[in-house]
Amino acid sequence: MDQPFAYVQDKLFIGGEWVDPLDGEQAASIDPTTGAPWAMTAFGGKRDIDRAVDAANAALKGPWGRMAPTERAALLRKLAALVEENAPRIAKLETYDNGRPLRETSANIAIEAQWYYYFAGMADKIEGRMIPMNQDTVAYTTRVPIGVVGAIVPWNAPTLVTTMKLAPALAAGCTMVVKSAEHTPVTMYEFAKLIEQAGFPKGVVNVVPGYGAVAGAHLAAHPGVDKLAFTGDHRIAQDIMRAGAANLKRVSFECGGKAPHIVFDDADIEQATNAVSHAGFMACGQSCTLGSRILVQRKLYDRMVEEVRQRAEKLRVGNPHEPTTHIGPQTHRAQLEKTLRYIEIGRAEGAELVTGGRRLTEPGLENGYFVTPTVFANVRNDMRIAQEEIFGPVVAMIPFDEEEEAIEIANGTEYGLTAGLWTRDLGRAHRVSSAIKTGTVWVNTFRILDPRLPYGGFKLSGIGRENGPEALQEYTEPRVTMISLSGKYPYPYA
Ligand code: NAD
Repeated sequence: MDQPFAYVQDKLFIGGEWVDPLDGEQAASIDPTTGAPWAMTAFGGKRDIDRAVDAANAALKGPWGRMAPTERAALLRKLAALVEENAPRIAKLETYDNGRPLRETSANIAIEAQWYYYFAGMADKIEGRMIPMNQDTVAYTTRVPIGVVGAIVPWNAPTLVTTMKLAPALAAGCTMVVKSAEHTPVTMYEFAKLIEQAGFPKGVVNVVPGYGAVAGAHLAAHPGVDKLAFTGDHRIAQDIMRAGAANLKRVSFECGGKAPHIVFDDADIEQATNAVSHAGFMACGQSCTLGSRILVQRKLYDRMVEEVRQRAEKLRVGNPHEPTTHIGPQTHRAQLEKTLRYIEIGRAEGAELVTGGRRLTEPGLENGYFVTPTVFANVRNDMRIAQEEIFGPVVAMIPFDEEEEAIEIANGTEYGLTAGLWTRDLGRAHRVSSAIKTGTVWVNTFRILDPRLPYGGFKLSGIGRENGPEALQEYTEPRVTMISLSGKYPYPYA
């Protein structure tokens, strides 16, 4: 019989084995370029999550729990090399699964190896402190792995987002159950194969895709899980936090953003235009770091709106498998509908639609989830299109007069993940970046993600930090050991 699906994986990766789902199902994955199913994969149910959590707990008690940090580092380096070697193949699969243009998935997956190399280097440098007490007493801290981590990950960059959790968790000596998103199960399965090939002990990493409300919610509530690491919508993060409250799970959350990208009139206009026109539309708008609010000083405003319009109209929207394509489809139908709904909201709120604003229905694209790059001008910061995360290729351009006003607008959202600013004035660069309440402020550049740079947000953008040495704090707990050298304990009730 002809194989109707281009990709099939009918087993889950649990306890180092490829196993049939106990109470899950086989589910089709839709290619957002064509709107047609392209892959058929196993999804886990509650009993599968139970099994994966048991395997992750057993692995902590097995060879992994006793392994020297340098050996964990060696495994991470092997995984890094395998990721590098397989990146071009996995990038192609990710483009089928989530529609991100091949030029983006190729770049993303190629750099993921850097996370494994970086945290391999950190694995044997997780040090404690010697604490001066008195002559009889020695006290010191060690940092111990938190235990089993439940990772719940989204669809916009499935392997990068997982890597930002997996690399520090493994360096720290934790084990993990990865619940990949229902829209994009394929590439984490491919990562599971690399983890197996690298030789990690059984059960250290378990991969169980599934529905958020079933497998995700069960993992979040599971008493055998010590920590949850999540990326996605803050409302889901709130559900996860409530579900995890029963055993006081530790959490780290990377949620949404509504990044202000501020252009002052002393900026290098050419470079600033390059950045704002790229950072609003890349990833088809589906990234929490993007500069979706473009704040421009009044003197430059009309010129900048015109420049961004011209560039948006020249973007090549279409088949994401073509290396020349700039913008692919939205990853799933509900996201397409959400983006189109916000375009209507922007119109109704009185923002000026400068360009875009429609679904593409040209022959060849009519069944996919394509939206034209959309620019709204004369946006007020209290409009919903400036306040709420759209997650589509839609930018809101907001004028401002003074520096203080720019800061007020920048901080005037519930989010606080990233921000960008363009100025040649060094004093202003320092003043404004220190006044903006976001986890990252890029000055005269934008959207540099790197394993060395701590990443995360204030307010509804999340809790905790990924990347950098800070990430290791998220996967370890300090333990105090105190030793009395004399061992004397005078009885106070004598
Ligand atoms: P989501 O936040 O629902 O999905 C993220 C992950 O959470 C998925 O694995 C999903 O299965 C899981 N999940 C969903 N409900 C759950 C529950 N009750 N318990 C445990 N896990 C659960 O993302 P979405 O609904 O596909 O997208 C909605 C919006 O979220 C987007 O439009 C966007 O604004 C935002 N989003 C943000 C990011 C980000 O990187 N910050 C990523 C994806 C989506």
